[in-house]
Amino acid sequence: MFSKVLIANRGEIALRILRACKELGIQTVAIYSTADRNAMHVRLADESVCIGPPPAKDSYLNIPSILAACEITGADAVHPGYGFLSENARFARILTEHKITFIGPSSHHIEIMGDKITAKKTAVELGIPVVPGSDGEIKTADEAKALAAEIGYPVIVKATAGGGGRGMKVAHNDLEMSTALGTARTEAKAAFGNDSVYIEKYLGKPRHIEVQVMGDGQGNAVHLGTRDCSLQRRHQKVWEEATAPTIAPDETARIGEICAAAMRKLKYSGAGTVEFLYENGEFYFIEMNTRLQVEHPVTERVTNIDLVYEQIRVAAGEPLSLKQDEIVFMGHAIEVRINAEDPQTFAPSPGKITYYHPAGGVGVRIDSAIYQGYVIPPNYDSLIGKLIVHGRTRAECLQRLKRAIDEFVVDGVKTTLPLFQRLIREPDIIAGNYDIHWLEKYLAANKV
Ligand code: ADP
Repeated sequence: MFSKVLIANRGEIALRILRACKELGIQTVAIYSTADRNAMHVRLADESVCIGPPPAKDSYLNIPSILAACEITGADAVHPGYGFLSENARFARILTEHKITFIGPSSHHIEIMGDKITAKKTAVELGIPVVPGSDGEIKTADEAKALAAEIGYPVIVKATAGGGGRGMKVAHNDLEMSTALGTARTEAKAAFGNDSVYIEKYLGKPRHIEVQVMGDGQGNAVHLGTRDCSLQRRHQKVWEEATAPTIAPDETARIGEICAAAMRKLKYSGAGTVEFLYENGEFYFIEMNTRLQVEHPVTERVTNIDLVYEQIRVAAGEPLSLKQDEIVFMGHAIEVRINAEDPQTFAPSPGKITYYHPAGGVGVRIDSAIYQGYVIPPNYDSLIGKLIVHGRTRAECLQRLKRAIDEFVVDGVKTTLPLFQRLIREPDIIAGNYDIHWLEKYLAANKV
C-alpha cells in the first residue's frame, strides 16, 4: 500500500480523496495555486505545496510543478480526481517513468478512450452497442452530407477530442451541415487544440444512462450498476440518480455485464464510466470516462461501496475485492450539483460566503470544500458542493431531497439551489419523466 498520496486537484474532490486516504492510513499531500491558499483541502492535508499562480495551466495543469511537489514530499502515488490531469495520458506516463503510481488506468487505456473515434471502434470490438455514425473522422462537407443521407437527419457533429459538452453541433439538413461542421471544428480547435470531428445520428429523446465499472488490471472487473444523468444544461450534468429509474433490474444486469466483460477483456484498471444514450429500450455507447466521475457518490450510496478505496487498492496492485454477486443495490440516491452561479442566467458568481448552513439528517451526504468566510476564486469551475440524498424508494428520496434543499443555506454568492427548489416541485421530475432535452426546454420556457 502507498505511504503518501499527492492529490492533484482542488475543491470538493480533493477533500473526497483526502478522506479516503486518511481512513486507509495514508499520508496526504495537497497542491494548491496562490488563489487557493485558504482552501479547505490545503488545511486538512498532512502537507501542502504551492504549485503556481491562479490560472489552471500554470498550476493544476502544470506537470513539472506537480512532479516537483511529488519529489519534495516523497509521495509515492498521485490521485488526479476528475477534470484537470485526470484523463491526460502523458501525465500518467510521466509519473510511471518517475516510479510514482498514477491512481487510475494505464496511459494506454486513457489514450484509447480519450479519442472518441478510437473509443467507439474499441467499443464495437468489445461488443458494446454504439450510436450509428461515421467510422472515423469526417473531413469534408460532402462526405458529411453523404453519410447524413445514409443515416438520416438530424445528425450531431462531435469533436474527436471532445469533453465537457464542447465542440458539438446538431444539423437538421444539408444547409445546416456546412455551418455545423465549421462551428464544431472552430470550437474543438479552441477548446482542445484539435479540430477533428465525426458524425453521429442525433437521438431525439434519449436518456443519458451510464454504467460504473471497476477493474484491477489483472483481468477482474465488475459493474456497479447504472446512473441516470439526463438532466443537463449545455450537455453538462446538473442532477444525477442511481440506480437509473427507468432501467429494469434485469436490463441493468445485462448492460452492466456487457460493460464488465469488456473491461475484463481490456484488463482495465481502476474506476471507469461507460456512457450511453438510451432510447426505445436500446443502449447506444457515446463515450467512456477513464476516471472517477463527479456523480460517483450516488453509486456509492446505493451500493455502500467506497469507490476511492477501491481505486487506491487496485492502483497499489491488490486484486479487486468486489465480487459481482456481492454488489447489491439498496434504495435510490439523487445528487444535485450546487454551483456558484446565477440560477437564472448561470453566470458565475464568485466571492465571499458570508453564511453557510449545510443540510443534514438521515440519508443526507454533502461533498463540499466550502465554509463560512471562504472566498470562491473566479479562476475555476463553479461547482461548490454536491448534495446527495438517499431513500428506500425514489419517492422517499425526493421527499428527503426537497427537505434538504429547503434547509441548505449559502449566503453571499448566488447558487443554483433555487433552481433545484423549483425542479423538485415539477410533476415531470417527480414522475421521473424526462430526457436529455427536458431541462433546456424547461429553462427556455421559464425565463423570468
Ligand atoms: P462530452 O465528452 O463533451 O461530455 P458526450 O459524448 O459524453 O460529450 O455527450 C454529452 C452529451 O451530449 C450527452 O449526454 C447528450 O446529452 C448529448 N449527445 C451526445 N451525443 C448525442 C447524440 N448522438 N444524440 C443526441 N444527443 C447527444
